This record gives sequence, structure tokens and C-alpha cells, in this order.
Amino acid sequence: MNFSGRNVVVLGVADESSIAWAIARAFHAHGATVWIGYQQKFFSRVRMLLRQYADVQGQRCDVTDDAEMQAFFDRFRGAPIDVLVHAVAFAPPELFTEPPSAATPEAFAQSQRISALSLASVVRHAKPYLREWGSVITLSFQASERAEPMYGMMGVAKAALESLVRYLALELGELRVRVNAISPGPIETPAATGILMAFLGQRDLRGALRHDVALAALDTARRQLGDDADPVACASAAWQHVQQAFAERSAIREAISAEDVAGCALFLGSDYARKITGQVVRVDCGLSSSMII
Ligand code: NAD
Repeated sequence: MNFSGRNVVVLGVADESSIAWAIARAFHAHGATVWIGYQQKFFSRVRMLLRQYADVQGQRCDVTDDAEMQAFFDRFRGAPIDVLVHAVAFAPPELFTEPPSAATPEAFAQSQRISALSLASVVRHAKPYLREWGSVITLSFQASERAEPMYGMMGVAKAALESLVRYLALELGELRVRVNAISPGPIETPAATGILMAFLGQRDLRGALRHDVALAALDTARRQLGDDADPVACASAAWQHVQQAFAERSAIREAISAEDVAGCALFLGSDYARKITGQVVRVDCGLSSSMII
């Protein structure tokens, strides 16, 4: 695939393990001109990445800040966007750890705003600059379709996001622009580690919620490393168990990497996927299509 002469925008880079960064690197490796957007709080980490890729440009772009988004997208006047990747999500920790009936309107609204509605906000700012046959890609998760104890109300935000993909596909179809989601299996990233860390404050993980593969993994890691272990180390150790457990339940018994997701993004961003829109493409080794208990 050759993306030379194409402009690719990737929002949601936090550090080198971010799915967004793997996608940005993949397009860059295939000749695209790449811009990344990041939250200011991650600037020091992102700056280190940009130093390695002198021709990748970065600018802060908080999806809850209209002025920041305007400033980010204004630069594309005269340089139309071919691929726009939205790899942005956030929910307050209690939406993961507390049962759905305990969710406050404020926490629910924040998760929906950043993890779902922001796709529409980003499209609103980017729309004047999207090239015909362009491609908008977002990131979802299988907990949009089936309730997973550890994912809590974030699953509701992902369900909204997937529905929004279909409605935005309808809106942008008039411009011959596609909108799709990639739904990957679990990958160790800052956001994913943050979910596990939210549970570390709980004394009894098994009692906190009904049994869940990821919570069991966290429980195992905490017992292995001890109650006083560094939370990041504990969550990271748990991730190895999580990926192993998911792989054992998948048709292809392998873990998913950010590079696997990037490969799918390259396809969806390419002319080979011109007639694919409004879809959720799963990159999960067949986890969602099989039932191995
Ligand atoms: P990540 O932490 O690297 O990325 C999440 C990004 O969201 C961060 O860069 C963060 O800065 C950004 N973000 C949060 N609030 C923002 C705001 N107000 N404005 C702008 N950016 C904001 O983690 P990731 O796992 O790479 O997440 C990327 C996407 O992939 C998310 O939508 C996530 O739900 C999805 N996803 C991740 C996994 C996984 O296992 N890691 C699986 C399926 C889907």
C-alpha cells in the first residue's frame, strides 16, 4: 500500500504503547504525511516520540475543547485529510468499578462525551477538510455488545460510539467519505492499564463484581506481587494474564497487538476499502465469533 501524497490525522497518542501511535507509525511507514493529536498532559511523552520521527507533526487537541480542535484542524485548509483516526476514550474510574445503577449523571455524561460524542465533534471540525473517498476510523471494544463486568458503563459508551459510526456514515456518505470502527481484543496501553488500576483500590476483587477474566488476572497478579506492589507493575503483570486468557478463548490462540490494529487501519484507510462504511471490524483472533469456555 502506498500512501504517499495522502494526509493522515491520528488523534489519541499518549505514549509509545498507544494504539494511535502504532497506527501513525504504520501510515508513516507507507509514505503518508502524518499529523498526531494529543492531550497536553501527555506532551512530554509525545515529544519524545516526535523526536524520533522528525517529519511527523503533533499538536495538542483536546476533544472537549472546541477552540483547540478548531486550531488543530484549521491547518488542513488547502491540505485535505485522507484518513482521520479517532483513538480517544475516557471514563471516570468509578464507572468501571461501580455497578451501572450507581453511575452518576456527571460520570455517565463525561464517558459519553469523550468516548462517543467526541467522534461527532471531531468530524464536525474536520468535515470541511475531508477529501472525497476519505476514511474516518474510530476504536471500539467488544463490551459494546455484551456486558463485561470489568468494563462497566464504558460498554454503554462504546455501544453509543458504534451506533454513531453508522449515523456518521450516513451523513458523510453524501461526501463519499467512509466511517468505520475497529474493535480490537485487549492490548496493554495507558487507558487499558488505567482500567485495571481502578480496581486495585478494591480489597476483594472477586467479591467486588461477578467473576471476570480480567479481574481474576488482576487478583492473580496482586497475590503474586503482594498487596504493597507498585500498582502499575501489578496492572502490567495482570495484562499478561488477560491477554493469555483471551487468547485461550479465541479461534486463533494469539494475543492482539497494536500493530495488528494498525494493519486493519491501513486497509480501511486505503482505496481497497472504498465501499466499506458504517461497519465495525473486529481484530480479535475470532474471540467474538467463537464461544470457547
Ligand atoms: P491510550 O491511553 O493510549 O489512548 C486513549 C487516548 O484517549 C489517550 O491518548 C488520551 O489522551 C485520549 N483522550 C482521553 N480524553 C481525551 C480528551 N478529552 N481529548 C483528547 N484525547 C483524549 O489507550 P488505547 O488503548 O490505545 O486507546 C485508544 C482507543 O482504543 C480507545 O478508544 C480505546 O477504548 C480503544 N480500545 C482499546 C483496547 C485496549 O485493550 N487497549 C481495546 C479495544 C479498544
